[in-house]
Amino acid sequence: MSIQNINVALIGNPNTGKTSVFNQLTGLKQQVGNYPGITVEKKLGFCKLTNTIKANILDLPGTYSLNASSIDENVVIELLLNKNDKLFPDVAVVITDVENLKRNLLLFTQIKDLEIPTILVINMADRMKPKGISLNISHLEEQLKTKVVLVSTRKGYGIDELKNQIVDYKSLSTEPCLNASSIDEEYFDKLRKAFPNQLLYKLWLVITQDVNFLNLERNEIRNSFTKSHSDLKRLQQKETIKRYQFINDTLKVGQTIDTTNATDLRSKLDKVLTHKIFGYAIFFGILLLIFQSIFDWSSYPMDFIDTTFADLANFAKKHLPSGEFTNLISEGIIPGIGGIVIFIPQIAFLFMFISVLEESGYMSRVVFLMDKIMRRYGLSGKSVVPLISGTACAIPAIMSARNIENWKERLITILVTPFITCSARLPVYAILISLIIPNKRLFGLFSLQGGTLMILYLLGFGMAIFSAFILNKILKVTTKSYFVVEMPNYKLPLFKNVAINVIEKTKSFVFGAGKIILAISIILWFLGSHGPEKDFKNAEKTVIENAKSEGKTLGKNQLENEVSTYKLENSYIGKIGKSIEPVIRPLGYDWKIGIAVVTSFAAREVFVGTLATIYSVGNNNDDSTIKNKMQADVHADGTKIFNFATGVSLLLFYAFAMQCASTLAITKKETNSWKWPLIQLSFMSGFAYITALIAYQLLK
Ligand code: GDP
Ligand code: MG
Repeated sequence: MSIQNINVALIGNPNTGKTSVFNQLTGLKQQVGNYPGITVEKKLGFCKLTNTIKANILDLPGTYSLNASSIDENVVIELLLNKNDKLFPDVAVVITDVENLKRNLLLFTQIKDLEIPTILVINMADRMKPKGISLNISHLEEQLKTKVVLVSTRKGYGIDELKNQIVDYKSLSTEPCLNASSIDEEYFDKLRKAFPNQLLYKLWLVITQDVNFLNLERNEIRNSFTKSHSDLKRLQQKETIKRYQFINDTLKVGQTIDTTNATDLRSKLDKVLTHKIFGYAIFFGILLLIFQSIFDWSSYPMDFIDTTFADLANFAKKHLPSGEFTNLISEGIIPGIGGIVIFIPQIAFLFMFISVLEESGYMSRVVFLMDKIMRRYGLSGKSVVPLISGTACAIPAIMSARNIENWKERLITILVTPFITCSARLPVYAILISLIIPNKRLFGLFSLQGGTLMILYLLGFGMAIFSAFILNKILKVTTKSYFVVEMPNYKLPLFKNVAINVIEKTKSFVFGAGKIILAISIILWFLGSHGPEKDFKNAEKTVIENAKSEGKTLGKNQLENEVSTYKLENSYIGKIGKSIEPVIRPLGYDWKIGIAVVTSFAAREVFVGTLATIYSVGNNNDDSTIKNKMQADVHADGTKIFNFATGVSLLLFYAFAMQCASTLAITKKETNSWKWPLIQLSFMSGFAYITALIAYQLLK
């Protein structure tokens, strides 16, 4: 009697229990580990199935899909494409984890499409009851065109049934799950015509993957059918979406998860954390704590950085020979670098908290909780983090949008985040509100000024959501999002992972956006401290002469202030401020405000400082002085400049306008093109201009 040898390949995502099944089938002991990719090479074992059939069992490295990105995945693809390999499987056993069925089935459908006889093992069946999972096996078998075997290697059942199915492998269907040509009809039609005897999906893998395919000259296929890298990526994404749609449809009937029946601690925690009321309450409680801490903790290092760089600038000014070069260093480069470094504490703290939340598994629950609401506006559950982080600063917020996989959702999040009221707007709001809103309480309780501030916050948030809604309608990016509801286990965050994440994000900010911020600071410095020769050369003399002719004598401080004001007024920025007066006049602004608007493009809070300089209070940081001077200032016709209408118009302008070069820099970095920051700039500033215009014209 001859003995038949068959090849069985165990394939599956990492940690689904391949090695455990392998051990049970072969009886060979080997390391069972909990990290992805522990089985780096193929492992071979033997199993006598019947008296006449012996199986070579191959334990392959864990892989998520056939869209290979790692060596581990390549091992699997090379084997499956190479019919001449002596280990080419007669039957592929795809091992899945019942708790992660949706994600695991992606790989299964791909293997199926290679038309190899395939058995689906749903492992960890012992977890079904505690998780409240039930399966409709016959529905799954019918839809997936396969045999399904429920296994628990821990409890030791299902292995015998698996052996029987392997013996019976000739009766397995080799029908594919997905019709490959549905990925892109035109492209696949051409492929089919060129290679009529080849399996379409195989050809597709040869084109997209860096693997050898012995039956055909790979270069022949590649050369005539290759597409640009981005086209291939787009097609791959389309394939993934189609597969998930198919899997979603299959699981709708094939799987029910009733968490009310779940009994383990994790499920209980999940129930509370994703609860319709408690879930939100807990989330907002945690947020409050985080933001409190970010503000509290970063204020010390930020103050320290602020004074250190100011000292450094003074030091440079004092000790370097006076001249243009020293000015560049002390007024341009040092403050410019300071303007980058000052963001580091907030970025570091924010990402520390975010990675702790992510590592612990909590973030997935929040994303799950928020996803439905956010999706209505073209955002993702994951947009919650950037939107909320935006209240501190748009820069770390935009960076935190990186973990949104869907490009369109990520882009929309990046574009609308700067509408959220960031902390740099606060000093601007504070001074304007105190100028135009009476310090009164409504019903003795509700502060009018506080209320105005709150309205401004709500406006920012509302505008972000509204523009997301609009962008969702007009953006022609058709990457539909598939949401894989899959939550990792709770675990204690690893310090090392958190630290690496924080360092990586900080570095990427400093070396990415930092360069642009520095360049813009230097340009603004130059424009602010240089002007046409004739006005600039004799600034001091002119100021003294003017004072004389008005019959005033100036003290030393006063003279300095008057000179710096005169210089700013006659600098290029001053000229710009004056030249844009016709444009901003309809908003109720004069050239002084114009200069402040232009300079505060470096950062919004510069608005107050610029006005302080213009109103000659110099380094005297007493708000009431600026305030009084601003309040007293009049137009040529005697009307007050900072009246209610102008104030409201300015508040709206600062709420909506893209007055932040650093944000534009980070948008450029994250979207890798100038297109999006420019769109952001023109849309936000255009909108700001129009609302400010309407407000002023209605109120004046
Ligand atoms: P591989 O990465 O696919 O080779 O998976 P392993 O065989 O290394 O198993 C990954 C983890 O899942 C290990 O911690 C196993 O103990 C666990 N595991 C494997 N099978 C079962 C099962 O049937 N039930 C449960 N509860 N855990 C299992
Ligand atoms: Mg393994």
